[in-house]
Amino acid sequence: MAKSEEWGLGDFDIGKCIGEGKFGKVYLAREKQSGYVVAIKVIFKAKLDKYRFHAHLRREIEIQHGLDHPNVLRLFAWFHDDTRVFLVLEYAAKGELYKLLRSLRHFSEKRAATYVASLAGALAYCHEKHVIHRDIKPENLLLDLEGRLKIADFGWAVQSNSKRHTMCGTIDYLAPEMVEKKAHDHAVDNWTLGILCYEFLYGVPPFEAADQFDTLKRILKVDLKFPSTHYVSAEAKDLIRKLLVKDSSKRLSLQEILKHPWIVKNADPSGTCSE
Ligand code: AMP
Repeated sequence: MAKSEEWGLGDFDIGKCIGEGKFGKVYLAREKQSGYVVAIKVIFKAKLDKYRFHAHLRREIEIQHGLDHPNVLRLFAWFHDDTRVFLVLEYAAKGELYKLLRSLRHFSEKRAATYVASLAGALAYCHEKHVIHRDIKPENLLLDLEGRLKIADFGWAVQSNSKRHTMCGTIDYLAPEMVEKKAHDHAVDNWTLGILCYEFLYGVPPFEAADQFDTLKRILKVDLKFPSTHYVSAEAKDLIRKLLVKDSSKRLSLQEILKHPWIVKNADPSGTCSE
Protein backbone atom coordinates (compact mmCIF):
# COMPACT_ATOMS: atom_id res chain seq x y z
CA MET A 1 0.00 0.00 0.00
CA ALA A 2 1.26 3.43 -0.89
CA LYS A 3 1.00 6.87 0.64
CA SER A 4 -1.19 7.07 3.71
CA GLU A 5 -2.95 10.29 2.80
CA GLU A 6 -4.42 8.71 -0.31
CA TRP A 7 -6.43 6.15 1.58
CA GLY A 8 -9.98 6.42 2.82
CA LEU A 9 -12.71 4.25 4.26
CA GLY A 10 -14.19 3.80 0.76
CA ASP A 11 -11.15 1.75 -0.27
CA PHE A 12 -12.10 -1.09 2.10
CA ASP A 13 -14.88 -3.59 2.64
CA ILE A 14 -15.28 -3.72 6.39
CA GLY A 15 -15.97 -7.12 7.96
CA LYS A 16 -16.53 -8.38 11.46
CA CYS A 17 -15.21 -6.83 14.64
CA ILE A 18 -12.19 -8.84 15.81
CA GLY A 19 -11.23 -6.97 18.94
CA GLU A 20 -11.92 -4.09 21.20
CA GLY A 21 -9.55 -1.75 22.99
CA LYS A 22 -10.07 1.28 25.17
CA PHE A 23 -10.11 3.73 22.25
CA GLY A 24 -12.21 1.83 19.76
CA LYS A 25 -12.67 -1.39 17.85
CA VAL A 26 -10.59 -3.45 15.45
CA TYR A 27 -12.27 -4.79 12.29
CA LEU A 28 -11.30 -7.34 9.71
CA ALA A 29 -11.25 -5.58 6.32
CA ARG A 30 -10.37 -6.16 2.68
CA GLU A 31 -8.79 -3.64 0.37
CA LYS A 32 -11.20 -3.49 -2.56
CA GLN A 33 -8.71 -3.35 -5.46
CA SER A 34 -6.15 -5.94 -4.35
CA GLY A 35 -8.40 -8.09 -2.16
CA TYR A 36 -5.69 -7.84 0.52
CA VAL A 37 -6.96 -8.68 4.01
CA VAL A 38 -6.00 -6.26 6.79
CA ALA A 39 -7.12 -5.26 10.27
CA ILE A 40 -8.46 -1.73 10.67
CA LYS A 41 -8.28 -0.14 14.09
CA VAL A 42 -10.78 2.65 14.62
CA ILE A 43 -9.84 5.18 17.28
CA PHE A 44 -12.39 7.76 18.35
CA LYS A 45 -10.96 11.27 18.43
CA ALA A 46 -13.24 12.19 21.33
CA LYS A 47 -11.54 9.52 23.42
CA LEU A 48 -8.13 10.80 22.37
CA ASP A 49 -9.16 14.32 23.42
CA LYS A 50 -10.22 13.03 26.77
CA TYR A 51 -6.79 11.50 27.35
CA ARG A 52 -4.79 14.16 25.47
CA PHE A 53 -3.11 11.55 23.31
CA HIS A 54 -3.24 13.27 19.92
CA ALA A 55 0.41 14.27 19.66
CA HIS A 56 1.60 11.00 21.06
CA LEU A 57 -0.51 8.96 18.68
CA ARG A 58 0.79 10.93 15.74
CA ARG A 59 4.43 10.43 16.75
CA GLU A 60 3.96 6.74 17.34
CA ILE A 61 2.14 6.30 14.03
CA GLU A 62 5.09 7.91 12.29
CA ILE A 63 7.53 5.60 14.10
CA GLN A 64 5.64 2.40 13.37
CA HIS A 65 4.97 3.38 9.79
CA GLY A 66 8.74 3.33 9.19
CA LEU A 67 9.27 -0.15 10.61
CA ASP A 68 9.38 -3.21 8.39
CA HIS A 69 10.37 -6.45 10.13
CA PRO A 70 8.76 -9.92 10.00
CA ASN A 71 8.11 -9.84 13.76
CA VAL A 72 6.76 -6.29 13.96
CA LEU A 73 3.09 -5.82 13.04
CA ARG A 74 3.03 -3.62 9.94
CA LEU A 75 1.15 -0.36 9.95
CA PHE A 76 0.37 -0.03 6.25
CA ALA A 77 -1.50 3.25 6.26
CA TRP A 78 -3.62 5.59 8.31
CA PHE A 79 -6.27 8.19 7.63
CA HIS A 80 -8.95 10.05 9.53
CA ASP A 81 -12.34 11.70 9.26
CA ASP A 82 -14.03 14.21 11.57
CA THR A 83 -14.51 11.85 14.45
CA ARG A 84 -12.18 8.88 13.96
CA VAL A 85 -8.59 7.87 13.19
CA PHE A 86 -8.22 4.65 11.14
CA LEU A 87 -5.09 2.52 11.31
CA VAL A 88 -4.64 -0.03 8.53
CA LEU A 89 -2.71 -2.86 10.15
CA GLU A 90 -1.34 -6.23 9.15
CA TYR A 91 -3.91 -8.86 10.13
CA ALA A 92 -2.69 -11.27 12.81
CA ALA A 93 -5.05 -14.17 12.12
CA LYS A 94 -4.10 -16.34 15.10
CA GLY A 95 -4.73 -13.56 17.59
CA GLU A 96 -3.20 -13.02 20.99
CA LEU A 97 -0.21 -15.05 22.10
CA TYR A 98 -1.47 -14.65 25.64
CA LYS A 99 -4.59 -16.67 24.87
CA LEU A 100 -2.49 -19.46 23.41
CA LEU A 101 -0.29 -19.46 26.52
CA ARG A 102 -3.38 -19.65 28.74
CA SER A 103 -4.84 -22.54 26.75
CA LEU A 104 -1.58 -24.53 26.57
CA ARG A 105 -0.69 -23.50 30.19
CA HIS A 106 2.99 -23.29 29.22
CA PHE A 107 4.94 -23.57 25.98
CA SER A 108 7.38 -26.27 24.87
CA GLU A 109 11.05 -25.27 24.85
CA LYS A 110 10.99 -25.14 21.05
CA ARG A 111 8.02 -22.80 20.95
CA ALA A 112 9.34 -20.62 23.79
CA ALA A 113 12.79 -20.35 22.17
CA THR A 114 11.25 -19.51 18.79
CA TYR A 115 9.26 -16.65 20.32
CA VAL A 116 12.23 -15.37 22.36
CA ALA A 117 14.43 -15.39 19.24
CA SER A 118 11.70 -13.60 17.23
CA LEU A 119 11.43 -10.94 19.93
CA ALA A 120 15.21 -10.51 20.22
CA GLY A 121 15.49 -10.12 16.42
CA ALA A 122 12.64 -7.60 16.29
CA LEU A 123 14.05 -5.59 19.20
CA ALA A 124 17.55 -5.57 17.66
CA TYR A 125 16.00 -4.17 14.47
CA CYS A 126 14.12 -1.50 16.44
CA HIS A 127 17.19 -0.51 18.44
CA GLU A 128 19.11 -0.13 15.19
CA LYS A 129 16.41 2.30 14.10
CA HIS A 130 16.78 4.09 17.44
CA VAL A 131 13.35 3.01 18.54
CA ILE A 132 13.76 1.94 22.14
CA HIS A 133 11.74 0.72 25.07
CA ARG A 134 8.62 -0.56 23.52
CA ASP A 135 6.77 -1.85 26.52
CA ILE A 136 6.83 -5.47 25.48
CA LYS A 137 4.23 -7.55 27.30
CA PRO A 138 2.53 -10.81 26.31
CA GLU A 139 -0.82 -9.11 25.76
CA ASN A 140 0.87 -6.93 23.13
CA LEU A 141 2.04 -9.92 21.11
CA LEU A 142 -0.06 -11.33 18.28
CA LEU A 143 0.37 -14.33 15.97
CA ASP A 144 -0.12 -14.36 12.22
CA LEU A 145 -1.72 -17.19 10.25
CA GLU A 146 1.55 -19.14 10.19
CA GLY A 147 2.09 -18.68 13.92
CA ARG A 148 4.80 -16.04 13.56
CA LEU A 149 5.03 -13.66 16.50
CA LYS A 150 4.22 -9.98 15.85
CA ILE A 151 4.90 -7.15 18.26
CA ALA A 152 1.58 -5.37 17.95
CA ASP A 153 1.71 -2.57 20.43
CA PHE A 154 4.45 -0.30 19.46
CA GLY A 155 4.64 1.64 22.67
CA TRP A 156 1.67 3.70 21.60
CA ALA A 157 0.45 5.52 24.63
CA VAL A 158 -3.10 4.84 23.53
CA GLN A 159 -2.56 1.13 23.51
CA SER A 160 -0.20 0.61 26.39
CA ASN A 161 -2.22 2.87 28.61
CA SER A 162 -5.40 1.05 27.80
CA LYS A 163 -3.65 -2.15 28.84
CA ARG A 164 -2.36 -0.56 31.99
CA HIS A 165 -5.87 0.32 33.10
CA THR A 166 -7.47 -2.95 32.29
CA MET A 167 -4.70 -5.39 33.12
CA CYS A 168 -3.56 -6.11 36.58
CA GLY A 169 -0.16 -7.68 36.92
CA THR A 170 1.49 -5.31 34.46
CA ILE A 171 4.13 -4.54 37.07
CA ASP A 172 5.40 -8.11 36.65
CA TYR A 173 7.35 -6.91 33.60
CA LEU A 174 9.03 -3.92 35.23
CA ALA A 175 12.82 -3.97 35.35
CA PRO A 176 14.40 -3.13 38.74
CA GLU A 177 15.73 0.20 37.46
CA MET A 178 12.17 1.18 36.55
CA VAL A 179 10.84 0.10 39.94
CA GLU A 180 13.53 2.29 41.51
CA LYS A 181 12.64 5.09 39.06
CA LYS A 182 16.26 5.31 37.93
CA ALA A 183 17.27 6.32 34.43
CA HIS A 184 16.80 3.39 32.09
CA ASP A 185 17.71 2.50 28.54
CA HIS A 186 16.96 -0.30 26.10
CA ALA A 187 18.40 -2.87 28.57
CA VAL A 188 14.88 -2.89 30.09
CA ASP A 189 13.80 -4.79 26.97
CA ASN A 190 16.41 -7.49 27.72
CA TRP A 191 15.07 -7.85 31.27
CA THR A 192 11.56 -8.17 29.86
CA LEU A 193 12.76 -10.91 27.51
CA GLY A 194 13.96 -12.82 30.59
CA ILE A 195 10.55 -12.39 32.24
CA LEU A 196 8.74 -13.51 29.09
CA CYS A 197 11.05 -16.50 28.58
CA TYR A 198 10.24 -17.64 32.13
CA GLU A 199 6.52 -17.04 31.66
CA PHE A 200 6.50 -18.93 28.34
CA LEU A 201 8.12 -21.94 30.03
CA TYR A 202 6.33 -21.91 33.40
CA GLY A 203 3.04 -20.20 32.48
CA VAL A 204 3.42 -17.52 35.18
CA PRO A 205 5.83 -14.61 35.46
CA PRO A 206 8.75 -15.18 37.88
CA PHE A 207 8.05 -12.54 40.51
CA GLU A 208 4.31 -13.07 40.85
CA ALA A 209 3.05 -12.49 44.38
CA ALA A 210 -0.24 -12.09 46.24
CA ASP A 211 0.01 -8.31 46.13
CA GLN A 212 1.81 -5.81 43.94
CA PHE A 213 4.07 -4.54 46.71
CA ASP A 214 5.46 -8.06 47.20
CA THR A 215 6.04 -8.38 43.45
CA LEU A 216 8.06 -5.15 43.52
CA LYS A 217 10.10 -6.43 46.47
CA ARG A 218 10.79 -9.71 44.64
CA ILE A 219 11.84 -7.81 41.49
CA LEU A 220 14.29 -5.65 43.47
CA LYS A 221 15.78 -8.70 45.18
CA VAL A 222 15.73 -10.65 41.88
CA ASP A 223 14.10 -13.38 43.90
CA LEU A 224 14.24 -15.94 41.10
CA LYS A 225 13.03 -19.48 41.75
CA PHE A 226 12.51 -22.31 39.29
CA PRO A 227 9.55 -24.45 40.39
CA SER A 228 9.64 -28.19 39.81
CA THR A 229 6.09 -28.27 38.40
CA HIS A 230 7.51 -29.61 35.15
CA TYR A 231 10.86 -30.16 33.46
CA VAL A 232 12.68 -27.12 32.10
CA SER A 233 16.22 -27.61 30.76
CA ALA A 234 19.32 -26.23 32.45
CA GLU A 235 20.16 -24.23 29.28
CA ALA A 236 16.79 -22.44 29.40
CA LYS A 237 17.35 -21.55 33.06
CA ASP A 238 20.85 -20.35 32.19
CA LEU A 239 19.43 -17.89 29.63
CA ILE A 240 16.81 -16.62 32.09
CA ARG A 241 19.46 -16.13 34.81
CA LYS A 242 21.65 -14.16 32.38
CA LEU A 243 18.76 -11.83 31.48
CA LEU A 244 17.29 -11.29 34.94
CA VAL A 245 20.38 -9.51 36.23
CA LYS A 246 19.89 -6.43 38.38
CA ASP A 247 22.84 -4.53 36.91
CA SER A 248 21.45 -3.67 33.47
CA SER A 249 24.92 -3.39 31.91
CA LYS A 250 25.57 -7.07 32.75
CA ARG A 251 22.47 -8.47 31.03
CA LEU A 252 22.96 -10.54 27.93
CA SER A 253 22.73 -8.39 24.80
CA LEU A 254 20.18 -9.12 22.08
CA GLN A 255 22.92 -10.52 19.83
CA GLU A 256 24.15 -12.74 22.68
CA ILE A 257 20.59 -14.02 23.21
CA LEU A 258 20.44 -15.05 19.56
CA LYS A 259 23.73 -16.97 19.99
CA HIS A 260 22.81 -18.60 23.31
CA PRO A 261 23.01 -22.44 23.08
CA TRP A 262 19.38 -22.89 24.16
CA ILE A 263 18.16 -20.56 21.39
CA VAL A 264 20.47 -22.09 18.78
CA LYS A 265 19.29 -25.59 19.72
CA ASN A 266 15.55 -24.90 20.01
CA ALA A 267 14.45 -21.84 18.02
CA ASP A 268 12.86 -22.53 14.65
CA PRO A 269 14.70 -20.29 12.13
CA SER A 270 11.46 -19.76 10.18
CA GLY A 271 9.94 -18.13 13.27
CA THR A 272 6.88 -20.37 13.00
CA CYS A 273 5.94 -23.12 15.36
CA SER A 274 3.80 -26.02 14.21
CA GLU A 275 3.86 -28.38 17.20
P1 AMP B 1 -6.09 -3.08 21.00
O1 AMP B 1 -7.00 -1.94 20.87
O2 AMP B 1 -4.81 -2.91 20.26
O3 AMP B 1 -5.90 -3.52 22.42
O4 AMP B 1 -6.81 -4.30 20.25
C1 AMP B 1 -7.89 -4.97 20.80
C2 AMP B 1 -7.86 -6.42 20.35
O5 AMP B 1 -8.06 -6.52 18.95
C3 AMP B 1 -6.52 -7.13 20.59
O6 AMP B 1 -6.44 -7.66 21.88
C4 AMP B 1 -6.53 -8.21 19.53
O7 AMP B 1 -7.23 -9.35 19.98
C5 AMP B 1 -7.30 -7.58 18.41
N1 AMP B 1 -6.39 -7.04 17.39
C6 AMP B 1 -5.79 -5.82 17.41
N2 AMP B 1 -5.03 -5.64 16.32
C7 AMP B 1 -5.14 -6.77 15.59
C8 AMP B 1 -4.57 -7.22 14.34
N3 AMP B 1 -3.74 -6.44 13.64
N4 AMP B 1 -4.88 -8.44 13.89
C9 AMP B 1 -5.74 -9.23 14.61
N5 AMP B 1 -6.30 -8.89 15.79
C10 AMP B 1 -6.01 -7.67 16.27
